[in-house]
Amino acid sequence: MFHSAALKLTLWYLAIIMAISLIFSGLLYRVSSQELEHNINRQLGYFNNFLGPNDINIYNNLRQRQLNEDRNRLKGNLLIFNLLVLAGGGAASYWLARRTLEPIERALESQSRFAADASHELRTPLTAIQAENEVALRNKSLTKAQATGLLRSNLEEVAKLKALSEGLLRLASGSQPLKLQPVDLSEAVNLAIERQAKAAAQKHITIKNKLAKTLVKGDEEQLAELFSILIDNAIKYSPSKTDIEITGQKQGSETKTKITDHGQGISTDELPRIFERFYRADSSRTKDGAGGYGLGLAIAQRIVSQHNGYISVESKPGSGSAFTVSLPKS
Ligand code: ADP
Repeated sequence: MFHSAALKLTLWYLAIIMAISLIFSGLLYRVSSQELEHNINRQLGYFNNFLGPNDINIYNNLRQRQLNEDRNRLKGNLLIFNLLVLAGGGAASYWLARRTLEPIERALESQSRFAADASHELRTPLTAIQAENEVALRNKSLTKAQATGLLRSNLEEVAKLKALSEGLLRLASGSQPLKLQPVDLSEAVNLAIERQAKAAAQKHITIKNKLAKTLVKGDEEQLAELFSILIDNAIKYSPSKTDIEITGQKQGSETKTKITDHGQGISTDELPRIFERFYRADSSRTKDGAGGYGLGLAIAQRIVSQHNGYISVESKPGSGSAFTVSLPKS
């Protein structure tokens, strides 16, 4: 599809280049041949004064022949010039067409990969629900306890589907620009800690918030969501009875917020990929209970870039990870 689109675009670019070249050549030919004719007439007028009628005729014929030769040479040169423009313009047009279509091709590719990944993730819980229900239906002597177990398992899968569709929705809603206004970063972090308090308590994890009041240009709800994702991950990927620290630092025109955990950490080769949609480190895939779809950090990165900031990570497998969010100060 993109190959034929590139060829069509090449033809359009080439048509424009050739139209300009031909118009320019036509004008050049006209102006040059008028100038040559004008020179001959001037010379004839000059020689008319001291040449006889016979000589002037011979001279006139000679100059006319020369004029025709000059015109033919000019035509030949312009033809070669236009052929060169056609060859060079064709190559340049194709290169330009490929460059024009490249970002569109990449965006389309990423969109279809996203759709394929999303449907793959949706299919897993749906298949589980279908299989469990089919088995239960075939069982003629299904007890009440088994039926309750089935419903409970179905509800778990439905909860996973709900979490996935919410994640997809949050990712999709990121195309709108945010209304940024002065926000106290520590307030947004407190909101995030409150949302994760239950999960932290379940694992006896202590969250130490050392952030002082700091104003940034932002959207409080989105910032609370961003820190909620980072704290949620810190809890998920840390063993029980560990600490999570949140610290702040001002650096020039930006403020840096660091979330440090003492969990499993991330291996060096996986670090560059963790912000990709649906990417989950191998160690996290197999880890029981730390279920996710690999959308959290993609959403976090989207929120940070909507705030004109950036996010970075440092990690040491086995010792823990530290995510740093840098945002412009208000
Ligand atoms: P998930 O839903 O799997 O948590 P994320 O996008 O939030 O998805 O994270 C992507 C992957 O990055 C996770 O699967 C995990 O392997 C890794 N990761 C993220 N945060 C941490 C952390 N604090 N400690 C260790 N690994 C982490």
